[in-house]
Amino acid sequence: MTVAVFLDRDGVINFDHGYVSSWDQFEFMPGVPEALHGLAQAGYQLVIVSNQSGIGRGFYTEADLRKLNEHINNHLKDSFDIQMAGFYHCPHHPTEAKGEFLMQCDCRKPEPGMILQASRDLGIDVRGSLLVGDKNSDIAAGRAAGVGRLFKVSPQGGCDDGDLDVESISALPDVLSRL
Ligand SMILES: [Mg+2]
Repeated sequence: MTVAVFLDRDGVINFDHGYVSSWDQFEFMPGVPEALHGLAQAGYQLVIVSNQSGIGRGFYTEADLRKLNEHINNHLKDSFDIQMAGFYHCPHHPTEAKGEFLMQCDCRKPEPGMILQASRDLGIDVRGSLLVGDKNSDIAAGRAAGVGRLFKVSPQGGCDDGDLDVESISALPDVLSRL
């Protein structure tokens, strides 16, 4: 068994410009690669769990997202020597998606499906793991999955649903070293 940091993507890893679907729209938030490196050094697998209803809404395709994930993965590997363990996404939406993507699924956060699937795939001890999100639905998904520690990134402050508020993910390695 291994432990992981389950990472929401938009608003945690990159600026949330809304339905980011290509590398040219993808902008890392400050200090993120360094923070990911620190977390990996501390022994955590790095797993992205991201609601991507833009696929279901027809704004972009699974192939577009795969391409973007490859870019992110290669950039982190080549420039920062960071190995991502997995990218999980939910393409569904219960009311706004089209065709096969229109459904009440068990993967769209706040449901815990992506976290549970990643844990089965990668042999992750959920209880010993962390989750970082910027929305209450991220925190709720982590709680429902039984993730041991939940962090809410809150650059504006005033959020209280996570176990611990951090200003950004860049604060996490330091916060963990003091727990
Ligand atoms: Mg987010």
